[in-house]
Amino acid sequence: MIKYIDVKTRTRTEMIDITSQVQEIVRNSGVRSGVCHLFVLHTTAGITINEGADPAVQRDMVAFLNKLVPHDPYFTHREGNSDAHIKSSLVGTSQNILIESSKPVLGTWQAVYFCEFDGPRQRKVAVKIVADD
Ligand code: ZN
Repeated sequence: MIKYIDVKTRTRTEMIDITSQVQEIVRNSGVRSGVCHLFVLHTTAGITINEGADPAVQRDMVAFLNKLVPHDPYFTHREGNSDAHIKSSLVGTSQNILIESSKPVLGTWQAVYFCEFDGPRQRKVAVKIVADD
């Protein structure tokens, strides 16, 4: 069965920590050991795992992505959000996290981030948990 994490974004480009929602779905699944697949159902958003301790890391990543792929008028896509499509492909739309002792296995400083590149919008992340046996 697939579960969904609903994410409401507030600005055009931002990273939102969804680690606690992932932990809750894993805990409620009853699976002690396995894999948690996360998949973003959008073409202008992404998902990544990175430092959750210092918010400056997220700010720097967002600022760098905006500098790398500006919201430029020379793109031909009529919707005017090609920068968001490009950022989505650069960051990627899926992550896999191992599960052990009914918890996602993450490093001390790691957090799971939904990455908005064309907000504000209502977004969804699909979550599939697969048990070892
Ligand atoms: Zn578009």
